Amino acid sequence: MANASSVELVVIPCLSDNYAFLVHSHDSGQTALIDAPEVQPIADALTARGWHLTDILITHHHNDHIDGVAALREGVRVIGAKADAHRLPALDLAVSDGDQITVCGQKTHVMDVSGHTIGHIAYHMPDSGYAFTADSLMAMGCGRLFEGTPAQMWDSLKRLRALPPETLICSGHEYTAANARFALSLDPDNPDLISRIEGINSARAAGDATVPSTLTDEMRTNPFLRADHPEFKAILGMGDASDTDVFAHVRRAKDKF
Ligand code: ZN
Ligand code: FE
Repeated sequence: MANASSVELVVIPCLSDNYAFLVHSHDSGQTALIDAPEVQPIADALTARGWHLTDILITHHHNDHIDGVAALREGVRVIGAKADAHRLPALDLAVSDGDQITVCGQKTHVMDVSGHTIGHIAYHMPDSGYAFTADSLMAMGCGRLFEGTPAQMWDSLKRLRALPPETLICSGHEYTAANARFALSLDPDNPDLISRIEGINSARAAGDATVPSTLTDEMRTNPFLRADHPEFKAILGMGDASDTDVFAHVRRAKDKF
């Protein structure tokens, strides 16, 4: 099925630590943007390749994900969560959990991943293996709980964790090095974590993005995905606690780290 996945992914650093993503189909010439933190770097990335936007996919309502939509939307289909339409730029296509849409010729599944905000959605393209998770599941971390409860975020993360392990997690910020320091403070003897941190530090020293990351790496090293692992609970001294309570504890600890 080489043709089904013949799209190219471009990662665009924006603002101080945001990422926008382009997905481009060389067959159809269509180009989708996932989140619009800042206009200029996105416009430059398009111009450099001679690409023109056909779709903008919005993950959630925060300004650092939508500020560039107005300036980029002419002639473009803007897609976002129906549940959040009242606080998003005007939507040409309003979507909900479980919807399947086609973007750049790619089957694209919409997942509600509330927690950071209520109404945050992720987009999963199973044929190319990309999942655009923004501020839900992040590299070595997860978004802060501004609107949702720990139970909601834990449920969202479990649903993302159930995607195929080779999925590339395209998250919304370069927070990985700080997330890694926190993860190591909880779980200092985890060999997967220690070796991943070496890779992260050398990528950052070279000025490279640590996003996207593979779901396999997240499952081994992201403390927020490990709240139901008996060994991890034991390390935290929470062997008898519920998974949600362990997740809530880890999230609170990160807020104060
Ligand atoms: Zn956000
Ligand atoms: Fe954000």
